Amino acid sequence: MKEFIIATNNAHKVAEIERILSPLGFTAVTAKQRGFDLGDVVEDGDTFRANAYIKAKHAFDLCHAPVIADDSGLCVDALGGRPGVYSARYGGHDASPLVKISLLLDELKDVPDRERTAHFSCAVCCILDEDTVIEVEGRCEGVIARELSGDGGFGYDPVFVVDGRSFASLSAEEKDKYSHRGNALRNLRDALKAYSFK
Ligand code: IMP
Repeated sequence: MKEFIIATNNAHKVAEIERILSPLGFTAVTAKQRGFDLGDVVEDGDTFRANAYIKAKHAFDLCHAPVIADDSGLCVDALGGRPGVYSARYGGHDASPLVKISLLLDELKDVPDRERTAHFSCAVCCILDEDTVIEVEGRCEGVIARELSGDGGFGYDPVFVVDGRSFASLSAEEKDKYSHRGNALRNLRDALKAYSFK
């Protein structure tokens, strides 16, 4: 069966992964849908790649089935790459996306438009079996707006602008074309073509 267990509780991510891998005949399910509780994993890697591996290994050891994990975040040039791997914890673990965005806009309030460049980065780790680990990455360049726009997406999407539109203003399919996760998953899709699945 060409099914991957996705090591996340984020429904947006599962949907993005499913959209991109389904043309290859893969389906994506959450660990919960297969009766596993991922619990909390300590993401203490220094890089997106290290954290993606930590999440994938944790899920594989629990489920013993093909898994995909991703780790991603927003790197803002004027902040020396912050929040980076700490994007989920920026402003505190329990801070809502709106609180994180407010904090970000506040930190950047004196940064001129031409210096508001940023990128999203995404590392994806896929473990097929004990011996097969596939690691890929993707990124997307953009700028941080001064105000929120759009009502789609999640996280920092309302202030991350590509080609004049925020990620939150794009349809899901449009976001896939640009996004760090879309790029990483297309790299994964290409890498998976080298393997045969029953
Ligand atoms: P993680 O990869 O689940 O650890 O999430 C990292 C953080 O980056 C979270 O706070 C997300 O909100 C944020 N993030 C990751 N990908 C995206 C995205 O596509 N849009 C907006 N925020 C994102």
